[in-house]
Formats: sequence, C-alpha cells, structure tokens
Amino acid sequence: MDDGLLHLIGAALQSLSGAVVILIPPTVFFVLLALFLKGREALPVFERAFEDVRLNLSLHFLDTLLVAPIVAVLAQGIQNGIEAHSLAILAPARWHALPAVVTLVGVVFVGDLISWARHRIEHTRLLWPTHAIHHSDAHMTWMTIMRFHPLNRVTTLIVDLGVLAVCGFPEWALIANFVVRHYYGEFIHADLPWMYGPLRYVFVSPVMHRWHHARDVVGAGSNFATVFAFLDYAFGTYHVPGLCTVPLGVTDQMGKGTLGQMLYPFKAWGERLRETNGGRGEASRHTTAP
Ligand SMILES: [Zn+2]
Ligand SMILES: [Zn+2]
Repeated sequence: MDDGLLHLIGAALQSLSGAVVILIPPTVFFVLLALFLKGREALPVFERAFEDVRLNLSLHFLDTLLVAPIVAVLAQGIQNGIEAHSLAILAPARWHALPAVVTLVGVVFVGDLISWARHRIEHTRLLWPTHAIHHSDAHMTWMTIMRFHPLNRVTTLIVDLGVLAVCGFPEWALIANFVVRHYYGEFIHADLPWMYGPLRYVFVSPVMHRWHHARDVVGAGSNFATVFAFLDYAFGTYHVPGLCTVPLGVTDQMGKGTLGQMLYPFKAWGERLRETNGGRGEASRHTTAP
C-alpha cells in the first residue's frame, strides 16, 4: 500500500476516533438527565427513537469524514476573502476594545438574528428540500442536531459566518459563537419538558424548538431562533401553546437511510422541475414546505 493511501486512512481513523470522543460527554449528560426525569420510561423511549438515533449517528460520521473538511476550507476561504477585499464594516480592534463578555453576547445575538432570517428562508419552497432532512427526525433527541444535509451546512456556513466576519468579530468570538450554538442546539433538541417559565420569551426552550419540528403546518412554520426566543416574539413567529405532544417529522417521502437523505433534495427539485414543465402533477405532493 502506498504512503499516500496509508496517510489518508490514518487521518480518516483519527477523525473517526475524534467523532466518537466528542459524543461521550453529551451522551453521558443526556442519558443521566433522561434517567432522572423519566426513570424506567427512558428505555422504551430510547427503543422507539433507536432507528432515528442510528441514522443521526451515521450522518455524524459521514459529516466528520466528508463534510467537515470542506466546511473548514470554506470557512477559511470566507475569512481570507473578507480580509483580502477589506469587506469588514468594523475592524476587529473595535471589538477587542470592548469587554470580552460584551463581544460574546454581541456575536451570539447577531449570529442568532442572521440565523433566524436564514432559517426562515430555508422554510420556503425552494430551499425546503435541503432543510427537510433536519426535520425528518420523528423521535427528536439531542442527536437531531447532527441531521443536516451537506448543502444545508454549506449555506449555513456561508450566510452566518459571512455576515459575522463582515461585522468584524474577532476569530475567538466566531469560534465561541459556534460552540454556544452547537451545544445549546443539542440542548434544545433534547426530549425535555422545559418551557422556562417567565424566561420563555428570552431564551429558546426545548419545548419551543420541539414545536418547530411539529409535523403539521401549525407550529412548524414558527420558532426559527436557536438561542433568543424574543426574536421570534418580535417577528410574530413565536408559538408555544404548551407542552408539544403532537407528532414530529415531515410528510415528505425521503427514501430510506443515509443515501435517501442525501439524495432527497435532488429528487425533490427534479420532481418540481418536471412538474413545472408540465410533467407529473402529483409530484407536488412530496415537496410541500411547511
Ligand atoms: Zn427548521
Ligand atoms: Zn431543529
């Protein structure tokens, strides 16, 4: 076997072991939380979610091996491009002059505002097929955060990182924003019956985001924020009528397994194109955005 191939296999194994290690702390945390909240009921809940968890894990490993390296190169390219063409409207020095906590709150707030708008657009008819994959988990757990189509990951990166870099946030703040959104994202996808009481209009709760994943149109077309609930409240998209006990998931016909999920957007767009060109009218049944 030549050295290049051996090096590639070594790098892939290292990435995979990193992908396993990163799962350990949240797995321990959420398993203990589930046992504490549900007791013995946690086991049948897990059994029902098993197939969706398996699919989320396979997407996590695929993401680590194939998508994450592309995303890393793209992220560096976006930052270099903005720097090379002096596109930043604020110099990083301006943010450095502020207390770190102000910059941190600023980056998470601006990041969530951009994310709200981007997420709202992902729910339009054109982009829904790439985002539908995230909504296809009918048994939401913290691992649902792993279920994104690579195209959805790339558009998220370009829009969110692009705007934040144009705002001149320093690199540490961009990384901090990613970490906050990732781990808070795990938390709001977990099966937790928490609505936060009077703080429900300030922070997105697990129940609030669960309503976003409701299978029916009511609820699914709302709650687009990840961190700050007041964004949805301000834009009229806040919807938390109580605990979310309605069915989750999508009505789209995704096809089976990881491959079905990867191919779905192309299949949906192809069907829509045929439909537009006077093809089979019934194709529209499968491509309805909530
Ligand atoms: Zn969504
Ligand atoms: Zn979600």
